[in-house]
Amino acid sequence: MRPGFHPRLVNGPFEDPALFIPFLFEKRALLFDLGDLYRLLPREMLKITHAFVTHTHMDHFAGFDALLRVFLGRDKILHLFGPPPFLQNVEGKLRGYTWNLVENYDDAFVIKATEVHADHVLTQVYECNKAFAPEQKPLKRDFDGALVKESAFSVHAIHLDHKIPCLAFMLKEQFHINIMKDRLEKLHMPVGPWLRRLKEALYEQHDPGKSFHVAWKEHGKEQEATFRLGDLARQIARVSPGQKIVYIVDVVFSPENREKMIDFARDADQLFIEAAFLEAEERVAQKKYHLTAKQAGIIARKAGVKHVTLFHFSPRYAHAAPLLETEAREAFTRADAD
Ligand SMILES: [Zn+2]
Ligand SMILES: [Zn+2]
Repeated sequence: MRPGFHPRLVNGPFEDPALFIPFLFEKRALLFDLGDLYRLLPREMLKITHAFVTHTHMDHFAGFDALLRVFLGRDKILHLFGPPPFLQNVEGKLRGYTWNLVENYDDAFVIKATEVHADHVLTQVYECNKAFAPEQKPLKRDFDGALVKESAFSVHAIHLDHKIPCLAFMLKEQFHINIMKDRLEKLHMPVGPWLRRLKEALYEQHDPGKSFHVAWKEHGKEQEATFRLGDLARQIARVSPGQKIVYIVDVVFSPENREKMIDFARDADQLFIEAAFLEAEERVAQKKYHLTAKQAGIIARKAGVKHVTLFHFSPRYAHAAPLLETEAREAFTRADAD
């Protein structure tokens, strides 16, 4: 199976976190957390349409400026999400600069920021050529767990306890469509934008009996063909279950958080989870509202996830990262670990 998303941590486990999630075959990406973004190339940052912030402690939000700098003067909309008081934090960041010449910009960069509460969300719009000053009250709508729903994927969030509300995120691919190139060749059809149209039609579950028209150029000559959608899909596409990717960081191992995390990460293909401390310093972890490596491993095992990636290590283990890895691995694979 070729997954549609390829998440990668931007930095090493001791640096400020950010998970970059580019889309396969599309100039688009999502981002979980705005830690240190300087290792992302501007062309990678410009692919980002939605950035999700777990909480606004500086190590998770300081990358806001780097992102803003790259998007400024571009005709783009950037969607941001975070827990309360997110709108206040975004506005504070935006107020930190002088914007007296932005009305001359031709391209209208817009930030749409959403503050995620337990049962509702508040969305505010900040337009660059209006100096990012909001013009009306934030728009309120109910929150049912999903922050973004598109035909191919959705992004979900839960609130966890980090002495402040901290969000965990899940990216769920609806299902995955692989195009089999050899089958395309047999039909003498080229790859092209029509494949995206075909995928959209399948994601949106159009009637398989509907006709699907394809036009392309071959040696300068116009070619075209019409198929039944279902027939074409059967010939060239393979449908497999979508990936589930979960991101959890900066949370205390309380009984309530534990159950919520296990439930949220259930059967994930990939779990990115913090392992800030060793179990030997469990009391420090508890006091600072962070997880130990063992606790991260337990959550991963109880949730039945397929693959775990640890990050957000405390600097005190700068020369002992393998200890954190080993401790988590043991708790992940050994049923008697807890
Ligand atoms: Zn924090
Ligand atoms: Zn942190």
